[in-house]
Amino acid sequence: MTYAAPLYAPTRPDARAPALRVNLYSDTQTRPSPAMKQAMLEAEVGDEQHGDDPTVHALCDRMAALLGKEAAMFLPSGTMCNEIAILTHCRRGDEVIAHETAHIIAAEGGAPGALAGVSVLGLPGARGQFDVDTLRAAFRERRRNCPPQTLVEIEQTANLGGGTVWPLDRLGAVCEAAHVGGMAVHMDGARLMNAVVAAGVTAAEMAAGCDTVWLDFTKGLGAPLGAVLCGSAAFIDAAWQWKQRLGGSLRQAGICAAACLYALDHNIDRLAEDHANAAALARGLAQLPGIVVEAPETNLVFFTTEGAGVTADELAARVRRQSVQISTMGRFRARACTHLDVDRDGIALAVAAVRDALGA
Ligand SMILES: *Cc1c(COP(=O)(O)O)cnc(C)c1O
Repeated sequence: MTYAAPLYAPTRPDARAPALRVNLYSDTQTRPSPAMKQAMLEAEVGDEQHGDDPTVHALCDRMAALLGKEAAMFLPSGTMCNEIAILTHCRRGDEVIAHETAHIIAAEGGAPGALAGVSVLGLPGARGQFDVDTLRAAFRERRRNCPPQTLVEIEQTANLGGGTVWPLDRLGAVCEAAHVGGMAVHMDGARLMNAVVAAGVTAAEMAAGCDTVWLDFTKGLGAPLGAVLCGSAAFIDAAWQWKQRLGGSLRQAGICAAACLYALDHNIDRLAEDHANAAALARGLAQLPGIVVEAPETNLVFFTTEGAGVTADELAARVRRQSVQISTMGRFRARACTHLDVDRDGIALAVAAVRDALGA
């Protein structure tokens, strides 16, 4: 049994395909800019695992302050942040509650089960979010035949929900109900800063009700790798053992932390441009016959192709022939992500490519 690469990702470039001009496949496709690389080149480094890397310390201090938590930990990826959080919050046999489209369910290779021995209960709800009543209805009695429910997980923004922003009041109600029910709350903040910029509230306010939260630097923030997990000092202390066990303890990681610091300084406010580009893309796509666009709230534009009589994969293949790449999230559901390597001309080109692909 072999497994395909994630989503619509040609495993090798098709030799006949023209060079890619507009890459809307994912905001993970951003490349470090020359200025970011320069910051990496100049980074002061040390042995991270021994607590000797000053650039990693600077990043962790800054992230703890930004997210309003006591302590922070640098990790290679967002997936490792989620899994270390689950491993630290939970014991084998526990149940984690998340939205049914959550990244931890759909896109981490089954790691909550494989690594932490927990099950994940997926809750329904429009656009990647559940409300407090749905959460309360999922609470189990504390009996020895029931899995102990120890963690509620929230994605901000909700990726498969369409990059939607959990509003503060809903977040607050969900966090409070979880805590009353004796559960911790973990925020998958892969795109937390997109939510912050879109909603105009601070990251600390958004993370206030969450015990742990992380931010990915490899999405719209443009760093080559790195994510930072934040929580109480006691939590981060305990999490260090899992970081060590999983091989996530690093050496001269300051090279990468420097890219993340650069991203904090230069690539956050500009996320508003990505959101404006996503809105422009949505307006353009919505005018094409048979295309139904899910109104974007941030940088992710989901749309369905069924009305146009074409599968999402077929549409992706056709636009790829016109130098535009999108991803597919189901038979008739496609996704286009805006990010710092896509400008307004690229948006116009992408809309034209989809129009041509549909023969419209
Ligand atoms: C990308 C993503 C992750 C995983 O982050 P990696 O850095 O790719 O491991 C987790 N959650 C969400 C919502 C994501 O979009």
